[in-house]
Amino acid sequence: MNCLLCNGPVAAKLTIRELIWPGSLVMPVVCSKCRQQFMPLEGEQRCPACCRLQDASQLCPECRCWRQMYSWKLTHQALYCYNTAMKEFMHQYKFAGDYRLRAVFAAEFTAAIRQKRAEVVVPIPVTQATMATRGFNQVTGLLDGVKLTPCLQHRTLEKTAQSHKSRRERLQTPQPFALSGPAADLAGKRVLLVDDVYTTGRTLYHAADLLYQAGAANVISISLAR
Ligand SMILES: [Zn+2]
Ligand SMILES: [Zn+2]
Repeated sequence: MNCLLCNGPVAAKLTIRELIWPGSLVMPVVCSKCRQQFMPLEGEQRCPACCRLQDASQLCPECRCWRQMYSWKLTHQALYCYNTAMKEFMHQYKFAGDYRLRAVFAAEFTAAIRQKRAEVVVPIPVTQATMATRGFNQVTGLLDGVKLTPCLQHRTLEKTAQSHKSRRERLQTPQPFALSGPAADLAGKRVLLVDDVYTTGRTLYHAADLLYQAGAANVISISLAR
């Protein structure tokens, strides 16, 4: 087995459990050198609402804006920093469309989602245009066997690039989503929203707003990177 990212050899270090029960063997798909390039978001120096790395454990400026804009609070967990290695990974996975790369994080991301014990798991959808070119939803691609409720769909064809806008403009874009399917199923439920990358939070706040309108009791969110 070669590393999915650098194609170098992957040396599997077997645990005692794996030696005794080979059935429990989980083959690594990435070498340790590549694995080390990804930076887990852990520790106290993060915003408690969005996991942004910073000097203190207070709300970051963006989350303070969100709290003024909405009557509810969204607590977000991100597993990894969106650093150079993660950007490169996302580029290969999403834009070069290498679906094999889902295997790099699927087990870990799925485990983190199961830990949340949400009653309903809602993935952020891709637009029809993205689906036509990429051929898969990069969010659901990162999950293994999670029961999903895909009750969101894009209202507009394609959103404009976020990178050209100021922070204020990015926080005030119109609602890009509409509810599809049996929205009543959300009434009184604890909902987990799943995205691949958290940038400003704009996408997730729009989505959470709709889910609360549909009667969700509580909405939290998770992403692979931030
Ligand atoms: Zn490697
Ligand atoms: Zn924050």
